[in-house]
Parts: sequence; C-alpha cells; structure tokens
Amino acid sequence: MALGRIDHFEPRPGPPPNDGFHRAVTDLLEEWSWPHRSETNPAVRIVGERRSPRTHELRDIFERYLVASAFYPADSKEGAEILGGTDRTAVRWPVLAMPDGRVLQDPSNEEVADAYAGADALPKGQSFDLVVVGGGPAGLAAAVYGASEGLSTLVVEGEAVGGQAGKSSLIRNYLGFARGVSGQRLARDAFHQAASFGAGFKLMRDAVGLRRKGEELAVALSDGTEVSGRAVVVATGASYRRLDVPELEALSGVGVFYGAATTEAAAMTGQEVYVVGGANSAGQAAIHLSKYASRVTLLARGDSLSARMSDYLVTQIEASENVRVRLGTRVVGGGGAGRLERLVLRDASTGRTETVPAAALFVLIGARPRTGWMPGEIERGEGGFVATGQDLTREGTAEGRSTRRPSLLMETSMPGVFAVGDVRYGSVKRVASAVGEGSVAIQQVHEYLSHI
Ligand SMILES: Cc1cc2nc3c(=O)[nH]c(=O)nc-3n(C[C@H](O)[C@H](O)[C@H](O)COP(=O)(O)OP(=O)(O)OC[C@H]3O[C@@H](n4cnc5c(N)ncnc54)[C@H](O)[C@@H]3O)c2cc1C
Repeated sequence: MALGRIDHFEPRPGPPPNDGFHRAVTDLLEEWSWPHRSETNPAVRIVGERRSPRTHELRDIFERYLVASAFYPADSKEGAEILGGTDRTAVRWPVLAMPDGRVLQDPSNEEVADAYAGADALPKGQSFDLVVVGGGPAGLAAAVYGASEGLSTLVVEGEAVGGQAGKSSLIRNYLGFARGVSGQRLARDAFHQAASFGAGFKLMRDAVGLRRKGEELAVALSDGTEVSGRAVVVATGASYRRLDVPELEALSGVGVFYGAATTEAAAMTGQEVYVVGGANSAGQAAIHLSKYASRVTLLARGDSLSARMSDYLVTQIEASENVRVRLGTRVVGGGGAGRLERLVLRDASTGRTETVPAAALFVLIGARPRTGWMPGEIERGEGGFVATGQDLTREGTAEGRSTRRPSLLMETSMPGVFAVGDVRYGSVKRVASAVGEGSVAIQQVHEYLSHI
C-alpha cells in the first residue's frame, strides 16, 4: 500500500459466519461506486455557464454531502428542458432543479440547504444546552459526546460536515481503520452517528457573532437568526492559506483549487497538473491526482520533502512514475483565457523564472484559523489561533476575571466558550486529535454547567 500498488486488502475469511468479510466488501464497493456513479439520474441538476466558480462551489458542496449532482450547460438540451419557457436574458445563473421539482435561480447556500432538506428537518427551538460551531471532526465528536450524554445539542455548519477531513481522499492514520478511510465516509458516518444520538444540525449557515445573553451565550447566524446555548464549543477549524498571486486568485475554481483535489481528480484525466505545498496534505493530493493526470508536479519551497511530510508519503511519491518533485520552487504568476493554462515558477537558488503549461494547480500550503466571526474578548495566541486553558494570559483566565474557579483546559477567555481542534492554539492538526479534543471538551462542558 505504501508504494501505491494495492488499493485495499482484506484478510481471507475464516469459517462461517463471514459477515465481517461481506460487510468489508460492501463498504469497499460503496466507496468505489460513488466516484464512478452514473450522472444519468442525479438528485440535483445544475444549469449554468461553463467554468463558473459558483457552479464548482455548489458541486463541491453536493459532492461533500454525497448528493449526486449533474451539470448541464445553459445551451444544452437538458438545460433548455429544465429552464422550460423562462426568458434566458432574465435568468440568474446558476439554476438548480431540486429533487422536489423546485427550480432555484442563483440560490444562496441556506436556500439550497433548506430546499434539499425541507424545513421539517431543521431543529426545533432556538435554545440548547450546547451549541457546537463547526461540523468538522472536532465539532462532530463534541456533538456525538454531548448528545449521547444527555445535552440538547445543536451543530452549526457553514459548508459541509467533515471540514477539512471531508476533503481528504484517504485518511490512513486514524485509529481503527487499518486500510484507511476516506474523509467523506468518516464525515458521513460521524454525521449520522451524532444525529442518531439526537444532535440537531443547521447546515450551510455560518456563525457570524457570539455574545453573552444573561446566563446563556447567543450565536448569531448568517441567515439573520440567533441560537443560544448554555455552553458553546467552537470547532471552526482552519482554512487554506492563499498564494497571494492576484492573477491566480481570479482563476480560483477554474483551474486553481484550494484543497479540493478529491472532487476534481477525475476531471484531470490525461492532464498536466501541479500541486503546491510540502506537507502531508500536498503529498496526499499529488498521489491521488497521479491516478488520473498524465503528470503531477509537486512544488515545494524548502529543499527537502521529508522535513514536513510523513515517510510513507515521501516513499510513495518517489515510487510514482508520473509524480515529479521540484524543490526550492515558488509559483509567482500564471494565467489563461477563462481558466488556468500556464504557471510562472521561480527557482529560489537561481532566481530564474520559467513559464510552464498547466491544466490545474492545487494549493495546499497551510492553514489559517477561522476566527473572523468571534468577538475580540476571546484571546488569540500566535497566528490568531484561539487560546485556551494554560495558554490564556492572566487577565484572560477565570481567576483573572474572579469567577472563583480555574479556567478549564479547553475553555477560552469567554466563560462557557470552549475551543477544540485545528482552531485552538497549540492543537496538533490531525483528525484523531481533533476528535479527541471534541470528546474531552464535553466533560469540561459538564463541569462548567455544574458551576453555573
Ligand atoms: C486534504 C487534507 C488531508 C488531510 N489528511 C489528514 C490525514 O491523513 N490524517 C490526519 O490526521 N489529518 C489529516 N488532515 C488534517 C485534518 O483534516 C484536520 O486536522 C481536521 O479536519 C481538523 O478538524 P477540525 O474539526 O478542528 O476543523 P476542520 O476540519 O477545519 O472543520 C471546521 C469546520 O467548521 C466549519 N466552519 C468554519 N467557520 C464556521 C463558521 N463561522 N460557522 C459555521 N461553521 C464554520 C467549516 O466549514 C468546517 O466544516 C488533512 C487535511 C486536509 C485538508
């Protein structure tokens, strides 16, 4: 597996009953069938202009929710059928035909979520014991433990459950999955697990504010509503750093992708593609893309891959015939007519620039915490990550605020607000540690609730 020569293995089944073996084969087939599914019977049909970034974004969201969608250009037969007699000049693109027959023009993410789920699926009420902001591994773990331990729990997720992990094609180092697990599968199962314990979900809504409201904490949402919790767990993770090359920013979603290698991989068949980054996520993206692209070039600024990448990935990259590595190289420019066609690379040692043809660029160069929505009173550590427990300054601690109790390990400077996973200063930035922090925080939520 380290050399990429085996996709999966399963021990030969022993004496009957062999249900474990059958289940493993079924899971494997299910995972295989999703990217190979036919587009003849999609749940959602999208009509619009080719290569529109918004269409890419919507398809990415549906993909991450495992909802089959298909795209039809506005001038296609299927497109015309969906539009019916609508006047094309007045249409706001893209147009979505939903499973219940509704046709939406340029809908917001909230409108898409409600139209797909139906208003009945939304949680009832606005007040909960626990509001979890962010539905990545850390938030889902907090929801599973919170809901299973009797707390009325609401998860607010701005995009798709699974967070960054949901974008990972294969997580090989998560405990209990000897052959690895796809991020989408882990996210979907964790989502169902949390829901089965009674956690409610508000999907495709961002938290945009947080304030104390008497004994409770109120979380303002991007749809203009507010939900409140006696405690709040912040699990908003991190997002990718951008390249800061304006001409490439303009091509985001049309050849330039931030971390979305899973969604776009099949479209790269026979293409020349580039991956920027020197850590594990870039290595995984390069390996995944190499199954489709004619050649993948991994660009790293440093002079060695092994400094920031796991050994198993470095070995796999070295063994891949169509993956080449260019160290000491930066992307400084690029462009194309409507989509990415070329990149400008600079060699750090010689300073020479070179223009190369490129069909796609996948950028995986580190992350920035998603804290823009949080009030200033929540202390941040280096890099803007949220400080908790022992990393709080004296003034930020509960003792500093004279609440007559010490700050809990994952509690922020705002009493009753906890931070877990990638957003937390000093966190390990792995699926397992995010899940661990999300689970552990619930014990601290109980402790906090017993104080108030
Ligand atoms: C491509 C890739 C491959 C990886 N591979 C591995 C691997 O093999 N092994 C491993 O251990 N780790 C891996 N990681 C790292 C791992 O995925 C992260 O450490 C982990 O996902 C962090 O979990 P989290 O819940 O803290 O944050 P995230 O996963 O970032 O989730 C945060 C969630 O919060 C939501 N959110 C953000 N702001 C708001 C807001 N204002 N309102 C509502 N919702 C909001 C986001 O949409 C997101 O869903 C990989 C990461 C990537 C990107």
